[in-house]
Amino acid sequence: MQDVVIVGGGPAGLYAGARLAGAGFATTLLEEHATVGEPVHCTGVLAAEALDEFGLSQRSKLNDLTAARFWSPAGAEVRYSSGRVEAVVVDRSAFDRELSETALRSGVSVESGARANTIRIDSTGVTVTTSSGEIRARVCVLACGANYSLHRQVGLGMPRLFLNTAQVELPACQLGDVELHFGSEIAPKGFGWVVPVERPGQACARVGVMCEHDAAHFFDQLTSRIALRWGISRGDAPRPRQKILPLGPISRTYDDRLIAIGDAAGLVKPTTGGGIYYSLMSAALASDVLSTALKADDLSAERLAPYERGWRERLAGEFQAQLKLRLVAHRMSDADIEQLFELARTDGVMPIVRRTASFNKHRKLILALLKHPPVRQILLRRLAF
Ligand SMILES: Cc1cc2nc3c(=O)[nH]c(=O)nc-3n(C[C@H](O)[C@H](O)[C@H](O)COP(=O)(O)OP(=O)(O)OC[C@H]3O[C@@H](n4cnc5c(N)ncnc54)[C@H](O)[C@@H]3O)c2cc1C
Repeated sequence: MQDVVIVGGGPAGLYAGARLAGAGFATTLLEEHATVGEPVHCTGVLAAEALDEFGLSQRSKLNDLTAARFWSPAGAEVRYSSGRVEAVVVDRSAFDRELSETALRSGVSVESGARANTIRIDSTGVTVTTSSGEIRARVCVLACGANYSLHRQVGLGMPRLFLNTAQVELPACQLGDVELHFGSEIAPKGFGWVVPVERPGQACARVGVMCEHDAAHFFDQLTSRIALRWGISRGDAPRPRQKILPLGPISRTYDDRLIAIGDAAGLVKPTTGGGIYYSLMSAALASDVLSTALKADDLSAERLAPYERGWRERLAGEFQAQLKLRLVAHRMSDADIEQLFELARTDGVMPIVRRTASFNKHRKLILALLKHPPVRQILLRRLAF
């Protein structure tokens, strides 16, 4: 019998595994793919300070990101730079591999090519079945990303909000600032992005969209818009990977002998869908709570509840503000977005952004924008719609 079985070998599962095995608990991690870190669906943009904060090396870092350009539906452009390195872009595959190596060194038994098909929880433990057999453990950590079929089996809910995504890394001849593109012809209800990536001997751009429907179609629309400027050849370009993106937490992230972390818990920024930071943060919180509970041999829901209290204390205010803004964004017309761009270009909005914007925390910016009367008028019009 293992102490812990973790379902999913992304950042959340690997980071939690390393901490739990490091604390002396027998830990098995199941990853459905043959190789941890493959295939990559993610753009890999992280707050600049995140690697240090979680004690990770800089080895997977590819380049710094210092400025962003926002494009309106009609093609108006606003540039933002704080003059600092706000974010970095990592090689997501290398990032996950490094986490996996740390997990293995800490003593985690990482089983790749092992998909968890069922989870059964009883009064003495958890049984997870894969195609090659059963694993019995005292507790299960659900770290399976944005895949929610196991949630139904164990009675956990789903995130309330999703968007569709399509993303891929393409060779590029000219790198620019990060670009964010808005409007119904590029990414209805969401946005499209281009992120410069500097690989040794090869410049690339990660191009993606998050939108309400037809992500592959809108990906093509965005690529057509930017191909010339970035020197992207579309002829033999690989097709994007498509995936759903959860935008908000599930209603309850723990139960008897069960904790959900990272995307499996819906812990993703509702504004942008970024979740690597939260996956590491929730993994750290969960492993602390689980260590105490395992030592006390009490894995009841009551004993695991401090995990959810912990992430809610840190994030509930953020999620609330960001979810409000996301709902407003879902209702905004192209004309609304053009008006916001006009204000950003002419009416003192950018100083507010410079004063309050932070890569991981958007609440302060959202509240400050709501105090700016013309912006407030546009946002509230859609909130009340
Ligand atoms: C297009 C796109 C771009 C993104 N860009 C960014 C970005 O730039 N910055 C950012 O911070 N976030 C980004 N995100 C979000 C980010 O990818 C996730 O928040 C992050 O990967 C969450 O980590 P995780 O470990 O919770 O889940 P994942 O990384 O999804 O890992 C879950 C793992 O579990 C495995 N798994 C699933 N089911 C099973 C099963 N039944 N049995 C065994 N294994 C299973 C999966 O194969 C996967 O390897 C992006 C997401 C998308 C879709």
